[in-house]
Amino acid sequence: MIEEARLATTDEVVAELEKRTTFVMVSHVKPDGDTLGAGLALGIALKTLGKRVYYFQQDPVPRNLRFLPDTEYVSRGLPADLPEDTLFVFFDMSSVARAGEYLPAVARKNILNIDHHLGNERFGAFNYIIESEASTGSCVLLLLQAMRLPITPAVATCLLTCIMTDTGGFMHSNTTPDVLRTAAMLMEAGADKVQITENIFANKRFAAQRLLGFALSNATLEEDGRYCWTYVDEAMLERAGADGEDTEEIVNHLRAVEGVEVAALFKAFDGAVRVSLRSSGRINVQAVAATMGGGGHFMAAGLTYPGDLQAAIAGVREALRKAGL
Ligand code: AMP
Ligand code: MN
Ligand code: MN
Repeated sequence: MIEEARLATTDEVVAELEKRTTFVMVSHVKPDGDTLGAGLALGIALKTLGKRVYYFQQDPVPRNLRFLPDTEYVSRGLPADLPEDTLFVFFDMSSVARAGEYLPAVARKNILNIDHHLGNERFGAFNYIIESEASTGSCVLLLLQAMRLPITPAVATCLLTCIMTDTGGFMHSNTTPDVLRTAAMLMEAGADKVQITENIFANKRFAAQRLLGFALSNATLEEDGRYCWTYVDEAMLERAGADGEDTEEIVNHLRAVEGVEVAALFKAFDGAVRVSLRSSGRINVQAVAATMGGGGHFMAAGLTYPGDLQAAIAGVREALRKAGL
């Protein structure tokens, strides 16, 4: 049996951040406010110490996150003259593959893995993983505080974006009193909560709402009302004039149906079937997703299904039944 890499302490990570001069902040494919906000927050803070910082992200910055500071520097390219000891910091991903295939291979000794997912593969030389934190941004905040770096309004806005993204605007059950205290502190530090709310939760394109309508009108309730699922395919995207970014909230509407314990959204476009799973608390959807090569959290998980839409619908239903739905 391969021994699992141990977790790094806050002091060890701080020592490494202080020692290195050049950093690449890496966010996951199909980025959300947590992966991107966490990298931007750490990057902006490290730049005040005179460090060189780059942001790598395979996919473009989603429309609703472009208000965040430094997003103009996010790209899928890297400079040719990176020093050999550049530290690559991976945010909010349980496996290195979630960074996508454009990122060149990085030596393990140059990887810092900051995350809060269940079942993180601990792929870094330094693994700063706190499963009890509501967001990866909250893990970054602990590091900034340990380094006694000032939480500027820009940094605070990035970190509050992480928290609001992963708590669904303080709606999900991971919204603990501590999370609310941290959010209050970030607002006092200058985080622009109105801007975050407007951009992330109240700025839907008309096409996105049309798509939501199509998806909801095809929704199916099964297992005596405990399982609600629907799908979005290329034809629906086209009919609505929408794209993949417009699918974000759909699964939450399914989960919000009375009596529903698990919701699933099947996204059959861009040459793959990606599945978003949400739980209302009884079924661990991370464990279910993990049986099909995916991952996530107890209440929110995802996977890419190796097959067509019909196979995915049948396969996920079967896996959920096995998990006791
Ligand atoms: P989503 O449904 O895309 O919002 O993702 C919900 C959660 O599952 C997030 O924490 C993701 O990081 C995680 N997740 C989504 N897709 C995958 C995947 N293919 N592999 C591992 N984790 C995933
Ligand atoms: Mn994420
Ligand atoms: Mn997260």
